[in-house]
Amino acid sequence: ATPTALLVGTGRGAQLGILIKGPEVLESTRRVDTVVLDKTGTVTEGRMSLVSVHVAEGVSAEEALRLAGALEHASEHPIARAIAAAAGSSLPAVAEFHAEEGLGVQGVVDGHRVQVGRWGLPLDSELTAAKQTAEQAGRTAVVAAWDGIARAVLVVSDTVKPTSAEAVAGLKSLGLKPVLLTGDNASVARAVAAEVGIDDVISEVLPADKVDVVARLQREGRVVAMVGDGVNDAAALARADLGLAMGTGTDVAIEASDLTLVRGDLRAAVDAIRLSRKTLGTIK
Ligand code: ADP
Ligand code: MG
Repeated sequence: ATPTALLVGTGRGAQLGILIKGPEVLESTRRVDTVVLDKTGTVTEGRMSLVSVHVAEGVSAEEALRLAGALEHASEHPIARAIAAAAGSSLPAVAEFHAEEGLGVQGVVDGHRVQVGRWGLPLDSELTAAKQTAEQAGRTAVVAAWDGIARAVLVVSDTVKPTSAEAVAGLKSLGLKPVLLTGDNASVARAVAAEVGIDDVISEVLPADKVDVVARLQREGRVVAMVGDGVNDAAALARADLGLAMGTGTDVAIEASDLTLVRGDLRAAVDAIRLSRKTLGTIK
């Protein structure tokens, strides 16, 4: 490929809303056979809202939302923003705040040690049922606990981007295998995958382990593109044969990637691969 032809390719990319780090990126784009898609913020909007609060006996929903909301005010996670927004302002102060990536947050609120997320605490039968029902519907359920006991399940919901299903169909039509990768649980992941037409789902993956999933696929002989938006996707984006960041995502993800999909529209990933094949195909 001549440098001029490659640059023509990158110029067309800019028109399509794709920023390419360098012309050499087109070459790896062309060889990709597997596309790993992060769920939250990539396939889905990443903007969640609180749907419902389920409480254990003797607990009020107001108290659960107050304690959980106070804690989540200190977190940037989409789940945290949904819960904090629903809890409103004038919430108690938080001490000893700690966020554990892929698990949740904890801290001391009103003298209680509060945890929100998926810390693995046992749930009573009603909370278990509420959580399962929500997850089967493709919603994310997190547990609010204080003083070591699970007291509430908070259900938040994100929506699939209207363009995601079309993008997945486009990837398949190019002969690529889409794989959904998420830290969220298996039921939610399967529901989202079904909605957009993805058959392969890898769920409950801790942020630090996303990069290992990419490496494993590469050891199996696959040439892997990874599409993500979050800080927790950066290592996997860098490791992939081709990293694509959502332009609507974090700077860390964008820096770790070869390509940026400026508008955060997954269909641009299909355009990028089609463009690289066309550009390099015509000049061989
Ligand atoms: P994804 O891979 O879909 O972007 P994450 O790895 O960020 O998801 O989070 C995985 C799971 O960890 C969430 O579904 C949630 O159960 C829990 N979690 C992470 N951060 C928080 C938080 N701030 N509040 C509550 N739960 C959280
Ligand atoms: Mg994400």
